[in-house]
Amino acid sequence: MDTPQSTTTHKTYQERGYCSRPGYARIRAVLRACCWLYNHSLEQRKNTYLSDGKGMTLYAQMKELTQLRKEQQFWQDVSVQAARGVLKRVDRAFKAFFRRVKAAEKPGYPRFKPHQRYQCLELSDVSPGMVKGNCIKIKGLPVIRIRSHRRLPDSSQLKALRIVMHGHVLTVDLVYEEESEPLAPVASVVGIDVGVNERMTFSDGKTVSRRMIDRSRETSLQQAISTKKKGSNRRRKAVSAYARERRRNTVRNRNECHQLTTAIVRKYQKIAVEKLAIQNMSRKGGSRKRGLNRSMMEQTWGVLFQQLRYKAEWAGRQFVEVDPRYTSKTCSCCGEVRKEKLAVYRVFVCPACGHTEDRDVNAAKNIKERGAGLPTPYNAGGNPPRSRRESAEKDILVQLSI
Ligand SMILES: [Zn+2]
Repeated sequence: MDTPQSTTTHKTYQERGYCSRPGYARIRAVLRACCWLYNHSLEQRKNTYLSDGKGMTLYAQMKELTQLRKEQQFWQDVSVQAARGVLKRVDRAFKAFFRRVKAAEKPGYPRFKPHQRYQCLELSDVSPGMVKGNCIKIKGLPVIRIRSHRRLPDSSQLKALRIVMHGHVLTVDLVYEEESEPLAPVASVVGIDVGVNERMTFSDGKTVSRRMIDRSRETSLQQAISTKKKGSNRRRKAVSAYARERRRNTVRNRNECHQLTTAIVRKYQKIAVEKLAIQNMSRKGGSRKRGLNRSMMEQTWGVLFQQLRYKAEWAGRQFVEVDPRYTSKTCSCCGEVRKEKLAVYRVFVCPACGHTEDRDVNAAKNIKERGAGLPTPYNAGGNPPRSRRESAEKDILVQLSI
């Protein structure tokens, strides 16, 4: 196998940011103003459409911004990139809206945002001078210090910057354009089945156990909020304590996922997973299965897949999503499809060849096979069973559509 070529990709480094006490207040003030600008430009687009029957472009709004900056001292004092970032965000919301309309999905017209939920400053035009060592200096904002434990790329490669307030925690996302670092190729393919009983099951029989969250602290913090009077200082403090705990759990999980996915990408050349419509399975997607919902959501398969995808690309490995139909009902040995309902059995027993295996391992093997695009080993001699022939055809169709 050839060593894969390196390509340039955008990579985001998220760092915790620190600034002075008045600094935080200033960031909050700028965020509030940006929220106003967001809502204002949304309204402007809406009104223009209602009166003229035409939408407004990003450039038209940029012109308006220039006017606003002439009139208001506040916007003159804040970096123009930050204000443009707001307009771009509105533009992106509308583009996504039109895309969804075109695709006949649920349209979801862009919404006005309350200032409590507007937490992110985006700068997509950045100058290299904004990041100097451990300091981030942007006009109109306080100096933000980061304490990075890793070496950041050269600031000339900086492409975008985001400053996000998570309650009391400030993070800085630095987006760099970097050359990828392909790993030496290995000749191994793996199929991964995700589930609730085991978080991940590999086609070679290994498993990653399910994520269990200790919610005792979270629950007591939540209860503490309910006893405080609305609008009081004590309630505000209780809310932020709860938010901190939630964030801690998220970060903890992300770290676990990173360790897992890095190990997987190092070990295997081709990683096949099921293409899951996670949204459809949860309650948000209209499903009524509430009991399953939380236990599924907290396994965060989406986070795992997203990390696998970019890490595989970075390492010159392959990440494929295969058609999920019948992966748990097909025999990985002969290809026979078992027709019972899924909840009936934990162990897969093939009605045709008697092959017996853990249900998830069997599914992972099917995923691996589909991902590898290899023909299935048929039973020695004789014609392949009909069901396998059919599903083989289906697999070819899936490959073509990718
Ligand atoms: Zn079989």
